[in-house]
Amino acid sequence: MPIRDPFKLELALNSTFRVKICRKCGAKNAWTAERCRRCKSRNLRPKRYKK
Ligand SMILES: [Zn+2]
Repeated sequence: MPIRDPFKLELALNSTFRVKICRKCGAKNAWTAERCRRCKSRNLRPKRYKK
C-alpha cells in the first residue's frame, strides 16, 4: 500500500530505516547498537533510505 501523506511517509521511513545491519550475519540491530546482538561483531552498517 503506497503512503501518500509525506509526514506519515517520513515517519514510516524513519522507523523502517533507522536500523543497523550486521555485515557478517545480516542481523538487524538497534540504531544505537555498537555491536551485533547475534554475533557480537562490530562490523555494522546503517541501513539508509536512498532516493
Ligand atoms: Zn552479526
